[in-house]
Amino acid sequence: MQKRILIVEDEASIRDMVAFALRKAGMEPVHAADARAAQLAMAEQVPDLILLDWMLPGMSGLDLARRLRKEDLTREVPIIMLTARGEEMDRVNGLEAGVDDYVIKPFSTRELLARIRAVLRRSQGDDGTGMVEIGGLRIDGPAHRVFAGDQAVPIGPTEYRLLYFFMTHAERVYSRTQLLDHVWGGSVYVEERTVDVHIRRLRKTLEPWQFDRMVQTVRGTGYRFSASF
Ligand code: CA
Repeated sequence: MQKRILIVEDEASIRDMVAFALRKAGMEPVHAADARAAQLAMAEQVPDLILLDWMLPGMSGLDLARRLRKEDLTREVPIIMLTARGEEMDRVNGLEAGVDDYVIKPFSTRELLARIRAVLRRSQGDDGTGMVEIGGLRIDGPAHRVFAGDQAVPIGPTEYRLLYFFMTHAERVYSRTQLLDHVWGGSVYVEERTVDVHIRRLRKTLEPWQFDRMVQTVRGTGYRFSASF
């Protein structure tokens, strides 16, 4: 299926260049010159990915990203931020806002397309078969089993759900509250401390294979599952 990519960028020349490259790559570009236009476009149809310029007139790209992460409809849509050189310092803020990746201007359309494809692949995580593999750690969704290489990993039910969520949402930071919503379900009353307890158990479960390193603490924010450590 053709991927719909929303480009939120106030510079028409960049927007046109990106749209041209996307179309050539078989994707469907949608334009927006500011946050307000982006929200209108998203109300019409939720895109598969958002390219979001950091510096926009009116609401900044970062604030828009934060807002999108709070709304049910757009929470899971991957975001690639377009930033100017010198704005790298704000990467931490961006990660906390739930941004998936960055591309620094000026960029080549080739580089941009490579990043788009990587983020789309990652966000699809579970490819529909329920099998997910990251760096040698594998989940067999239908069988509810976890494997490290070809060894079966004994795992508790909550740790399994937590790991499944992490592996299908790798490389993104989640707060304890977000993890409670996604893994425990929003209607259940559980203390945030519970998350830490199960994170600890999950790490212990994965420790014999050293995959515990993939379950990472992001100070002051929450947790992330990442293959790079
Ligand atoms: Ca701009």
